[in-house]
Amino acid sequence: MEVQERLSDVLSRIRSSEKAANRAEDAVTLVAVSKTFDAEAIRPVIAAGQRVFGENRVQEAQAKWPELKGETPDVELHLIGPLQSNKAVDAVALFDVIETIDREKIARAVAAEMKRQGRKPRLYVQVNTGLEPQKAGIAPEETIAFVDLCRSELGLDIEGLMCIPPVDENPGPHFALLAKLATKCGLTGLSMGMSGDFETAIAFGATSVRVGSAIFGTR
Ligand SMILES: *Cc1c(COP(=O)(O)O)cnc(C)c1O
Repeated sequence: MEVQERLSDVLSRIRSSEKAANRAEDAVTLVAVSKTFDAEAIRPVIAAGQRVFGENRVQEAQAKWPELKGETPDVELHLIGPLQSNKAVDAVALFDVIETIDREKIARAVAAEMKRQGRKPRLYVQVNTGLEPQKAGIAPEETIAFVDLCRSELGLDIEGLMCIPPVDENPGPHFALLAKLATKCGLTGLSMGMSGDFETAIAFGATSVRVGSAIFGTR
């Protein structure tokens, strides 16, 4: 299958899942995860009409996206990988959405850069729903206080929550937990679901799904 065909297959599965869950058409945004793929591999997906992309490393994204954004200015780029505070300068400059705000130090660094650069990327807080030690994200029980701090102390406008469930577990309970936390925080954005489980995530209320290999092929 060609990449355009895989893209349209993923999009039609998203639309069917919205319908099955009684959600509005286009309630879910597809973030096409292009990590490890070069500009040559990404161009056909842009040509097919996809405009929202995700990358997990700041440096890798810097190597290909300034050129691709130059060619197609309405592309929207999401950072979906862990952010170090020394990379906040570059992340705020390049990304339109940063999905991985997960601790006070990074929230402060991003807030300071937004002010300095006069740029306002949309922001999500990453939650480590499985409390996995190797995974980024704030603990579920600290999420409400952390979102409060981001809003009231740092003046950050948080759009939603993001999670990556443990690979070896049923993702449903993790998606349900993220949705419940978002409601408690008064947030409407829910970034959850990847190639293997985006239809489940849509059933649990995902507003964006991050799909890589089902579009671009195996990495
Ligand atoms: C790589 C990645 C994805 C996409 O994973 P696939 O299984 O290839 O769809 C989604 N979210 C994050 C945070 C990732 O790093």
